[in-house]
Amino acid sequence: MARRIKRKHEANQVSLSEHFSLIEMTKSQSALRLGLDNNPNPKAAAALANLCEQVLEPVRRHFDRPVIINSGYRAPAVNKAIGGKPTSQHCKGEAADLEIPGVDNMDVYKWITANCGYDQLILEYYTGEPQSGWVHVSYVSPDDNRHERLRIDKSGVRRD
Ligand SMILES: [Zn+2]
Repeated sequence: MARRIKRKHEANQVSLSEHFSLIEMTKSQSALRLGLDNNPNPKAAAALANLCEQVLEPVRRHFDRPVIINSGYRAPAVNKAIGGKPTSQHCKGEAADLEIPGVDNMDVYKWITANCGYDQLILEYYTGEPQSGWVHVSYVSPDDNRHERLRIDKSGVRRD
């Protein structure tokens, strides 16, 4: 127990919500490889915490399994390096790409549509295989969320 408390005091173990830490929401292999700083400013960190509370925690509670964040925050330079759009909500701390090992990405996508507020929800590169692709979700605020649902795959982008 003492050890757990001590670890929580390390800077990179900062919690954004009950189950999500700053480090897992900012980890980036590209940033590491390129030596780029991927720490969010306070505004982006607050947006990440909001995304965790409003979407990721409810998903974590419902499926009762660890949620893997493939990409959360991306500093503009990191986003540019990986070819992301400059307007990406990942750069504002408003978006995350996630999956839950053992759960069909379609089920995660459908559960969020029915149970969470969201700005944009995208089922990406899902082929029908349960573990294919991932779910991108963004959250802004109850007033500004667009509730836009999209499917993206090799044939393009379409509204769902
Ligand atoms: Zn994304």
